[in-house]
Amino acid sequence: MLTVLESINLSTEYLKNKGIESPRINAELLLAKILNCKRLELYLSFDRPLVENEVTQYREYIKRRSSFEPLQYIIGSVEFYGLEFKVNRSVLIPRQETEILVETIIKEYQNQNGLKILDIGTGSGIIAVCLAKYLPSAKVIAIDSSSEAIKVAKENAELNQLNENITFIDSEFMKYKNENENEFDVIVSNPPYISSDEFQDLQPELRIYEPRQALTDESNGLSFYKTITKKGKLLLKKNGKVFFEVGQNQSLAVKEILVKEHYSEIQIQKDYLSIDRVIYGELD
Ligand code: GLN
Repeated sequence: MLTVLESINLSTEYLKNKGIESPRINAELLLAKILNCKRLELYLSFDRPLVENEVTQYREYIKRRSSFEPLQYIIGSVEFYGLEFKVNRSVLIPRQETEILVETIIKEYQNQNGLKILDIGTGSGIIAVCLAKYLPSAKVIAIDSSSEAIKVAKENAELNQLNENITFIDSEFMKYKNENENEFDVIVSNPPYISSDEFQDLQPELRIYEPRQALTDESNGLSFYKTITKKGKLLLKKNGKVFFEVGQNQSLAVKEILVKEHYSEIQIQKDYLSIDRVIYGELD
């Protein structure tokens, strides 16, 4: 039987030949998942032989990864903003940049109680769950047009014991009817902002495996910003704010949309690579 080290070496070589980036880390993380240990703990058991069902499982995982299935879907969970989230192919894999969106809102409202927050296109629920966790008196409504995504988001709220603070709604945003007009303090969204042209050039991990409707608006990438800012005027309280994540080179266009719809005090936050990543404004 192969040992831990031998299996990692063989799998690394295999993934490398298939063109997978960082093949060694991928090989290690997949084996750590099977052995139910941390990646670095593998280094303490290099000589341990794998038993038959571990080898079978490992082969299957390596095969999936070599077909460009993202590591996170195979492992089935990710960490985001210090919390654990389940993911599957019905939801976008959380991106580190989105932590900036979450953090901006938490900082802005940490001293305010009883907020009402609407998260549009919640996907795996990362934004709703983190806001409910770190703004514990807030009431969060999270909406998504995919019922499969809503299922995952609900599981994630339960996993983090925040299901009482979040209401999930399985609906398209345009069909969503709010109970009362102008009831929200905050609208947040990380919408599908990739244009249909850019979509063709995405890496296979995204293009083939992540849900297309979570990535692209099938247009110029700006449609959701327009729809949300417009309808947002009926949903937000006076001086309520809308917070968006934006794609590279979109901040100016989104700023124009906000200004046109009478939002002011517009601010932008950059990400770790100094790219404009979050934009927000206040309804006049
Ligand atoms: N809100 C989720 C996230 O930030 C999903 C976003 C989406 O599907 N576009 O990851």
